[in-house]
Amino acid sequence: MRINVLGVGFDNVTMKEAVARGTELLGQPGAHYVVTPNPEIVEVCRENPEAMRAVNGADLVLADGIGVVKGARMLGTPLKTKVPGIEFAAGLMEEMAAKGMSLYLLGAKPGVAETAGKRLAEKYPGLTIAGTHDGYFQDDGPVIEAIRNSGADAVFVCLGAPKQELWMARNGSATNARLLCGLGGSLDVFAGTVKRAPRFWSDHGLEWFYRLCKEPRRIGRMMKLPLFLVHVQQEKRRK
Ligand code: UDP
Repeated sequence: MRINVLGVGFDNVTMKEAVARGTELLGQPGAHYVVTPNPEIVEVCRENPEAMRAVNGADLVLADGIGVVKGARMLGTPLKTKVPGIEFAAGLMEEMAAKGMSLYLLGAKPGVAETAGKRLAEKYPGLTIAGTHDGYFQDDGPVIEAIRNSGADAVFVCLGAPKQELWMARNGSATNARLLCGLGGSLDVFAGTVKRAPRFWSDHGLEWFYRLCKEPRRIGRMMKLPLFLVHVQQEKRRK
């Protein structure tokens, strides 16, 4: 059973369990997709029913960040832990490399996915990068065809939220891949163009603050975090 945080149902899993589930889905026929909502995405879903449907329709819904974990605890239905999308992706790539599987990278500015692909192929010997495509395309058709022709087992879809969730829900099956993962800005991190917060910050639940200091223009988006906590408080009172 999923844990409901303001309408989004989260799978109550540890990182290990999430990677095991992702690996299992890779072995099952049909297309599956994984989403990694943070409080900002939960707020987007509250305002956008289509995004809410796409997120809740995923085969695996992971709590990306401490905000969702805090929210679930405040509501009296705690989640075991946060499962950051980027760490889930790393765990999954290890498993895929061991099995000689292939991965397609979709998203980010032109050139970023290629750089990420080169670095990931070095880091995970055994993993094949089936292809890459930037995230600023107009027509879905040629992109879907490129993924299908690549024969990729999995696709990292990094188009930002809620674009990536809607894209996976709509086009997942047509790609013929067995697993699609919506991973926001992860390709920028894998390519080395954006740095993740040092451990100290994430261990203290302050990754968001580190990011804000590095990219102050995110302030508008980040105002969704206090709003999320206000909505959680309201929900708690209502319950
Ligand atoms: N992006 C994209 N196509 C778009 C809009 C965004 O490929 O139409 C990419 C953007 O370049 C970035 C990622 O999607 O690499 C979103 O990053 P963001 O920092 O917003 O994601 P977060 O990790 O915060 O969810």
